[in-house]
Amino acid sequence: MPWRCPICGTENRDDALTCRVCGAYKPEATTRRVAQIAKEPVSAALLVEVLESPVESLVGRRFEIKVTTPGAVISVGRAVENQIVVPDPAVSRRHLRLIVTSNGVVVEDLGSSNGTYLVEGGGERLIKVENVGRQAVVRVGGTKLRIALLPS
Ligand SMILES: [Zn+2]
Repeated sequence: MPWRCPICGTENRDDALTCRVCGAYKPEATTRRVAQIAKEPVSAALLVEVLESPVESLVGRRFEIKVTTPGAVISVGRAVENQIVVPDPAVSRRHLRLIVTSNGVVVEDLGSSNGTYLVEGGGERLIKVENVGRQAVVRVGGTKLRIALLPS
């Protein structure tokens, strides 16, 4: 039976042991090896740096979040409840979330008005949910964020 990833919600094929988008392990996988790996704590720091923004006070700002739990979720948006607050008027209140996995950061747009773009190869691409790896630049509204997953 196809299975739905508990972290990013992607449907995966029955024979896949890990999610094709974020790399999370299939929940019902019961082999010893998989069970062991899945419980391994992630020890990393997620760094989010503001490269460009219409909000001048935000440019150059760095947010560093220590991550010890696989699947840790970091919310990003205009509302003050977010862990990373981006007061750019073109950013939605709850714009996106970042999910830290052992093989990269999953960026998930939360149905924002203006979308989330991955900046790559001199262009940009609208993304919905995608593992962007350990280093990426995303644009939300007029704000560009550099995301880096660093070993701690
Ligand atoms: Zn997933």
